Amino acid sequence: MTNAPATFHPTRPLPYGRQHITEEDVKAVTDTLQSDFLTQGPKVAEFEEKFAAYLGATYAVAVSNGTAALHLCALALGVAPGQRVITTPITFAASANCVLYAGGEVHFADIDPTTALIDLRQVRHLLESHPRGHFHGLIPVDFAGLPVNMEEARRLVDEFGLWIIEDACHAPGGFFVDSEGNEQRCGSGHFADLAIFSFHPVKHIATGEGGMITTNRPDLYEKLLLLRTHGITKNPDLLRQNPGGWYYEMQTLGYNYRMPDMLTALGISQLRRADAGLARRRQLAASYDAAFAEMPTVRPLAGAAGHAYHLYVIQVEDRKGLYDFLRERQIFAQVHYIPVHTMPYYQELGWKTGSLPRAEAYYAHCLSLPMFPDLTDEEQQYVIDCVREFVQG
Ligand SMILES: *Cc1c(COP(=O)(O)O)cnc(C)c1O
Repeated sequence: MTNAPATFHPTRPLPYGRQHITEEDVKAVTDTLQSDFLTQGPKVAEFEEKFAAYLGATYAVAVSNGTAALHLCALALGVAPGQRVITTPITFAASANCVLYAGGEVHFADIDPTTALIDLRQVRHLLESHPRGHFHGLIPVDFAGLPVNMEEARRLVDEFGLWIIEDACHAPGGFFVDSEGNEQRCGSGHFADLAIFSFHPVKHIATGEGGMITTNRPDLYEKLLLLRTHGITKNPDLLRQNPGGWYYEMQTLGYNYRMPDMLTALGISQLRRADAGLARRRQLAASYDAAFAEMPTVRPLAGAAGHAYHLYVIQVEDRKGLYDFLRERQIFAQVHYIPVHTMPYYQELGWKTGSLPRAEAYYAHCLSLPMFPDLTDEEQQYVIDCVREFVQG
């Protein structure tokens, strides 16, 4: 291979992720704008049903964004002052913040350096080094789109009586293979009590803002419906009295975390292309893997058949050098993530840099390259050529 600069030059900047919007998507939204319902209409339930079916879950609850989804999950599971919840430092801050919203305490378990996922052995160590009942919940994150083995996570937390919220924002359509050889989709409800998704434009399904919670537990489903809409119900089966058709009851303190029909219509349209998008992501990942296999100083994170490739992450010695080099060439790679416990806010809560060495070592070298379904082969080759030029240059 030569170090000659790439000859192809992309006609657009290449971010690490971006939405893919078609004419059908546009029509789905404009049709809804001309219908009777901009919000609280039929598209919400249709999106929920189709999304639940896609994952094989029983229930789905559409909400305003992934962060709202996490907040409602924490409330539905009863997070409150005095409760302690374990999550990973390598995630978006919202995975941890939701515990604080509900008054609970966040704890971190370090990552497995080959996957950057929460290391369940570290979780076990935390659980075993405290009295039973000390911790109440676990929030594993399917980081980059690589599913956490939720069967193993379930077995572990069952020994100690914890619940699980799976943050599956990176992994709609992703799966792991369980101990009986079955593919288990993220958010299927078989192992985690609740799972959450985001429809932010960089995620697989883009609606601008939007989120979803999936579960197989009817008790949690009922709580989520109440919490999403001010704690108010009109369901005759749940009312304590029913003096007339106007009547509703506020039974708990809830929020307005609804997703409007305009956006759920876009979600339904996007969901139709979810498998095609996932197939393209896996194809792009395979091409990156093949190219980087010949560049010993470029180390991609471990792959897997069920990886959903929200991100394609490499680790390099001089990450800042590569980041700046790519930026000058219109490639906007990104760092996922700055460890949550090193954020000033978490430092004020008492977390110390140095306390989670694997997460911090990973952060020092990681970089997410462009990964989105309409990235062309030529554009990807340009990214690969630029990385090669940097590491060999
Ligand atoms: C995007 C994301 C969220 C938050 O979702 P929003 O819809 O942006 O609120 C939470 N967790 C992870 C892992 C995410 O990637």
